Amino acid sequence: MSSVSRLESPHAVETATRAVVSWRRRPDDAVRAGLLVGELVYALDGQLSLARTPLEACDVARDLPGGFDELVETVVCAGEEPVPLTDVLLSPPVADPDKIICLGLNYRDHASEAGLEAPEVPVLFSKFRNSLCGAHDAIVLPRTSDEVDFEGELAVVIGRRAKHVAASDALDHVAGYSAFNDVTARDIQLRTSQWTAGKALDSFAPMGPGLVPADAVADPQDLWIETRVNGELMQSDSTGSMIFGVADTIAYVSSLMTLMPGDTIATGTPAGVGFKQEPARFLRAGDVVEIAIAGIGVIRNPVVAEP
Ligand code: MG
Repeated sequence: MSSVSRLESPHAVETATRAVVSWRRRPDDAVRAGLLVGELVYALDGQLSLARTPLEACDVARDLPGGFDELVETVVCAGEEPVPLTDVLLSPPVADPDKIICLGLNYRDHASEAGLEAPEVPVLFSKFRNSLCGAHDAIVLPRTSDEVDFEGELAVVIGRRAKHVAASDALDHVAGYSAFNDVTARDIQLRTSQWTAGKALDSFAPMGPGLVPADAVADPQDLWIETRVNGELMQSDSTGSMIFGVADTIAYVSSLMTLMPGDTIATGTPAGVGFKQEPARFLRAGDVVEIAIAGIGVIRNPVVAEP
């Protein structure tokens, strides 16, 4: 079993990001599609009218000869004034996925720290749209739990319908990738053998900052992922440590159900979750949780008590 107490980061995950995002200036505004480049957001539904949603933007990028790089260059050079990220509210990049499918125990060290065998087939559970929130939105501690925990994960968003796809073709069905926090109420989760009750609470799926289109991610099994609570490193691993990689996971899930554009798969968490820290480190009001994935971006969510 690996040591999961306080880690030193071997990889400073950079925070500069290029991604397609859902954004608005004020809570009452309509959500728009945008392009995040570093600390600036460019409208994608403005003069250029390139896309109304991040999923559409991934389609646009896929059809350009130069892919996402060409989309970024086109938008940045178009001359429309960007908005500082600090003046923007980010929404989850997919507002209403048909499915949010999560993998449990998909990193060997995490299965080991949980005292469980590494699974022989993917362990699946579900979240729903009520859990989704944006990259900077609050995680709300429910009155019904004293043990709310973090799980930093890579999320995969489907771009093209997939049913019975081979692993060798599976990545062609991906629109893009996001950082995801599979927030979990451990006390509720572990009361029963099925995990949904402890996983599907409101605000328990922060996601973003946007989607990084698939063509801009050379290898989804070569991304460094880190989780920090109040700046302290809790989880640090490569997505190469997954037991079931993204392609195998899509192939497996597509053998069970039809995957549709927007469907979101959270691919499991590395070792270092709060309930296996010594002492256990559950989330408290006032904490800030960051999930950072190299090349994908950072989500940074404050933790608040349920009013
Ligand atoms: Mg998880």
